[in-house]
Amino acid sequence: MLERLESSPRGLTTAEARSRLARFGRNVLPPPRPRSALRILADNFRSLVVLLLIVAAGIAAVTGDPADALAIAGVLVITVAVGFFTELRARRSVDALLRLDVARATVRRDGHLVPLEAGELVPGDVVELEAGQAVPADCRLLQATELAVNEAPLTGESLPVTKRADPPADADAPLAERPVMVYKSTVVVTGRAHAVVTDTGVATEVGRIGAMMSEVREAPTPIERRLDALGAQLIWLALGVAVLVGALAFARGAPLGDVLATAIALAVAAVPEGLPVIATIAMGVGVRRMARRNAIVRRLPAVESLGSATVICTDKTGTLTTGEMAVTTLWVAGREHDVATASNGGSPPLGEARLEDVLRVAALANRAELHDATDPSRGGHGDPTEVALLVAAHRAGVDRQRLRMEWPEIGEIPFSSERQLMATFHRERDGRVHALVKGAPGRLLAICDRVATPAGERPLDEEERGRLRAVNEGLARRGLRVLALASGDVEDPTETAVRALTFLGYAGMMDPPAPGARATIERVHAAGIRVLMLTGDQRLTAETVARGLGLLREGDEVLDGRELQRVADDTLAVRLRRVGAISRVSPADKLRIVTALQEDGEIVAMIGDGVNDAPALRKADVGVAMGGRGTAVAKEAAAVVLQDDRFETIGAAVEEGRVIFQNVRKFIFYLFSCNLAEILLLLVASLAGLPTLLPIQILWLNLVTDTFPALALAMEPREAEVMRRPPVSPRAPLLSRALLREIGVFAVLIAGPALAAMRWSGGGSARALTLGFTTLALAQLFHLGNARSSGPVTSPRAAAANPYALAALAAGVLLQAAALHVTALARLLGTVPLEVRDWALAAALGAVPAVVGQVLKSLRPRPRLRPGPVASR
Ligand code: ADP
Ligand code: MG
Repeated sequence: MLERLESSPRGLTTAEARSRLARFGRNVLPPPRPRSALRILADNFRSLVVLLLIVAAGIAAVTGDPADALAIAGVLVITVAVGFFTELRARRSVDALLRLDVARATVRRDGHLVPLEAGELVPGDVVELEAGQAVPADCRLLQATELAVNEAPLTGESLPVTKRADPPADADAPLAERPVMVYKSTVVVTGRAHAVVTDTGVATEVGRIGAMMSEVREAPTPIERRLDALGAQLIWLALGVAVLVGALAFARGAPLGDVLATAIALAVAAVPEGLPVIATIAMGVGVRRMARRNAIVRRLPAVESLGSATVICTDKTGTLTTGEMAVTTLWVAGREHDVATASNGGSPPLGEARLEDVLRVAALANRAELHDATDPSRGGHGDPTEVALLVAAHRAGVDRQRLRMEWPEIGEIPFSSERQLMATFHRERDGRVHALVKGAPGRLLAICDRVATPAGERPLDEEERGRLRAVNEGLARRGLRVLALASGDVEDPTETAVRALTFLGYAGMMDPPAPGARATIERVHAAGIRVLMLTGDQRLTAETVARGLGLLREGDEVLDGRELQRVADDTLAVRLRRVGAISRVSPADKLRIVTALQEDGEIVAMIGDGVNDAPALRKADVGVAMGGRGTAVAKEAAAVVLQDDRFETIGAAVEEGRVIFQNVRKFIFYLFSCNLAEILLLLVASLAGLPTLLPIQILWLNLVTDTFPALALAMEPREAEVMRRPPVSPRAPLLSRALLREIGVFAVLIAGPALAAMRWSGGGSARALTLGFTTLALAQLFHLGNARSSGPVTSPRAAAANPYALAALAAGVLLQAAALHVTALARLLGTVPLEVRDWALAAALGAVPAVVGQVLKSLRPRPRLRPGPVASR
């Protein structure tokens, strides 16, 4: 196969790869087609609002009011156009973000393993595949160990398929029966392999069927659905009121035309025309803000769940810690050796026979590679645990290349979290099979029956076991991650044969806390969110690390995986309430933990990056994966990807989620109090037999003057205390009782002055109507200040914190002036120019809700906040 592709086990040369890249093109698929513009347009036409406007225009036309009908039709066009363009823009930018994720591959070029962007691959490249990776191109296997691949993206089959390197390729066999081939976009679930790339880009199997799965479907988010429901309720309310008012007026003998006009005005008044658009924009703004802080949202509903998360379950290694591990200690045959690290410059402890045995295991039972075989300080790639061991072995003077020749490898047992160990098998000169094994201390002690001591090997009796356990505990208590190493002859290179080994010693690894992790935990705690660390490490290591990070609060404890298994499902949640970390967890435990927490009413954000974390990531309310370190499987399952691999970013994401949620509440409050004010005004006026505002004027308010303030609210920056309040349950109603009450109060405060203005200026005249209209517009504009923050707007600086708000206010006032003084607009809206005196009156009356609102706010006791650090950025 290699020959046919003119390649070699050393891979292609860089020059050859470059020329092939020119010939075959980049290994990329055309991007998925975003929802088409036409679709978005059609969807915008389907909304209830638009239907209502169409009906209103129809009635106006039939009852012989062509001006109104035309105006409503015009508004209709504007609504749809605005909705269409904003949505188009928001969706496009979200789509662009979704595509940011770049797949990587490990490839052999010029005989060296190098990490590469998957787009650079060409046919003939020799790639390494390992569990968790997405297959970067169509490849033929050269060598494979326990390889299983999930081909669901291609075949729809959700169970992993086993692949082997040996059987010959049969080009005619259906996909599923070609076990020597692996295909682009499928995912390696277990095992490892070398493979040679056969096809790239559109020539791959997915490339050929690509068209089938190109359209991105974005379901409405929960908040959008709840907003729609709320909007619908308001419309029914308005229709009810409209019918009632119409019936009353009709009974009183008003002309049918007037009755209908009022009914139309009412219906129009009730509809927050801008709401769906503003909601979409708010989400888009939030998603972009999160992206700027390195949290890429892959599924929109996650924004909301992030904002209401009550528990964050997180893995330890590489998330709370840097994952840049370094072996600091080797414990061998009763003696502890300091190991040279980059920082201490200690001397290599080679020279002792027992130590050499340990270092051999460290170097050979190891899948990591150094970036530079001559310079361990440059680090390496692969599992951080293994890189650390490899670096330590090199620093101690081990020559891995030579060892590999002396001990040819004939097989391996790959590491898996369930197994907690890995082994390689080697052929000795006399033909015997020798196993080199490393893994979790408890696991290895169970398969050893001898132990290496300075005086030679001894049987591993109970006394000796006790001593070894105590050594492990001592290392773990120092916060070190401990791996045990063992070796021994076995009958054959299989998992069952690995027993009766000789215990060689321990390697103690330092994994320093990630910068900022501790501070983030403190911030998240202050926000009323629990943090639960889940780690495969043993209890004492977990406890020391958890304590160092401030994870264990008063009365919190560390629960061990073994104990966890004994806790029944129905009592687990209660048990977990006082737990800050869980040690020795298996991936299956993680799923159980997430489920139990959710059943206890928690909203769970789960950070994980292993292949086996996928089920828990999917089950959690927000699955979070690391962009750099996470496996493709984890990223695929996650709703949010943290690009910078930092725990701090989850804190930022939660914060942004909360800000969005808060802003949504703000503009709902704003729009609904304005709409309710309009309903009230029309209701009271028509009950009192006063002429009322025209439908077109109401539309003007809803669409022109209200939209900008509401949009500005979607841009409101976060309030300082957003992370010092307990989470708001997403199950709580969108409009709490308190909020509904406030909406009612402000609706009265807005409608009242407008009615008063109309009455004072003598009721029915065009000037009176215009004055009422203008007062209403200004009252609504000034009401923006009430909706902005939960406290009063105290300083000019606070007022300017959101420049959009000031701009919206200015724009609103100018537009309203245009509505009266630009002749064409005035004719359309049925207004007359007002004198300065009238404007002053409108402004004074319009200021009433704003002034009362600010006074009410400064009287209200400040909400009690949890102590905690204030947002840093
Ligand atoms: P974590 O990495 O969070 O500790 P894992 O499930 O990956 O959890 O690992 C479980 C245990 O298996 C570890 O605590 C360690 O003792 C052991 N282990 C981890 N990585 C390796 C490896 N590459 N080879 C052998 N044993 C390992
Ligand atoms: Mg691990």
